[in-house]
Amino acid sequence: MKNTTIFDNTEIAFSLKSDSELERAYFLFKMISNEPLVRIGTAVTNFALKAHLPVKGLIRATVFDHFCGGVSEEDCIPVIDKMYTKGVSSVLDYSVEGKEEEAQFDEALEKILHIIEFADEKDAIPFGVFKPTGFGRFLIWQKKTEGTPLTSEEEQEWDRIVERFDKVCKKAYDCDVALLIDGEESWMQDAADDLVTEMMRKYNKEKAIVYNTLQLYRHDRFEFLRKLHAQAKVEGFKIGVKIVRGAYMEKEIERAQEKGYPSPICKDKNATDENFNTTLKYILENVEDIAVFIGTHNEYSSALAIDLMKQLGIAKDDFRVWFGQLYGMSDHISFNVADLGYNIAKYLPFGPVRDVMPYLIRRAEENTSVAGQTSRELNLLSTEKKRRKL
Ligand SMILES: Cc1cc2nc3c(=O)[nH]c(=O)nc-3n(C[C@H](O)[C@H](O)[C@H](O)COP(=O)(O)OP(=O)(O)OC[C@H]3O[C@@H](n4cnc5c(N)ncnc54)[C@H](O)[C@@H]3O)c2cc1C
Repeated sequence: MKNTTIFDNTEIAFSLKSDSELERAYFLFKMISNEPLVRIGTAVTNFALKAHLPVKGLIRATVFDHFCGGVSEEDCIPVIDKMYTKGVSSVLDYSVEGKEEEAQFDEALEKILHIIEFADEKDAIPFGVFKPTGFGRFLIWQKKTEGTPLTSEEEQEWDRIVERFDKVCKKAYDCDVALLIDGEESWMQDAADDLVTEMMRKYNKEKAIVYNTLQLYRHDRFEFLRKLHAQAKVEGFKIGVKIVRGAYMEKEIERAQEKGYPSPICKDKNATDENFNTTLKYILENVEDIAVFIGTHNEYSSALAIDLMKQLGIAKDDFRVWFGQLYGMSDHISFNVADLGYNIAKYLPFGPVRDVMPYLIRRAEENTSVAGQTSRELNLLSTEKKRRKL
């Protein structure tokens, strides 16, 4: 077993939380741990938002303020500054999802360009981030991935997607701000991978500016990385990757069953963990070629990364290795890792309440379904509550 006790210091983990914030977090995770409540709550909230019932205040006071920095990037500044006093950086994540219109994609583009400029000025923001489907319709990505011919209108849509990608990657390169590109459903991902690789080829000549995402619940991703590595060596570019386990497992398995193709997901949780840890090791052994953002709430994998860095003589603050968690989750990893002197950044989502709902629902469901995650948060919060009382 790895030494995960390095994450047990709750005084460090919750140093920024007031007593009432601690209580609120405890109450929230208690609610989230109740599966039927999350299911019903999600349905009711979606209905209420569609019916324009006044529930935004309630959402804000509960899940929104816990998992998001605010409605706008300006709202997030106090949170960013506060976390940075403890060595924890932020990745401003414009978490508006499921859009289908060109004007909305252009709006997302402008947001990301602005965030990159913002990051250029603020040390506390080391990365920009966006989702491929934030820049173009899911169906276009899917058709490209399947090799289905596009209509001439769709061809134009695709050209605009490529243009948007190139604009943000160029901006990131000019500002010297690294850029994370999120991973999504496997049936649109090949087209995103090809485009991100093209961007790496163009903008990662000296160092990794553009980062793709590897979802290691997919059993084919380690092989994908090894091939990309070989290609990068031949063509002379650096690789940037965010490694995660993956957020769309149920959807992936259901679709594979429905359509009758083999599931792209590892056979069980152990296999995913092994895939994640093997890939992590491979990357750190090849850190001269591959920069990494380790996006996980898993204590074992985080401790493994620390051990491997020590063994391989990688400095704690090497610019090519970052740890990352989501805002509102696993502060015990983030703040203890920062206290030890490693690079760590939390994804800080923001956006209008209605538009970040898909993100919030994923967080609620993930905390309900991931065995141990919520009880771990509750245990840590209650340990800290007791410590403060003493
Ligand atoms: C900073 C950051 C960025 C992220 N960006 C992305 C992104 O771009 N795209 C994305 O998809 N997700 C992203 N995620 C979410 C991530 O993929 C996981 O859903 C989440 O972090 C939980 O995994 P874990 O490693 O933290 O922890 P763990 O609790 O150890 O692992 C849970 C994960 O293991 C996998 N798993 C669970 N049960 C099984 C099973 N029976 N068989 C196989 N695998 C199983 C699933 O992926 C599940 O989410 C991000 C997470 C973080 C922290």
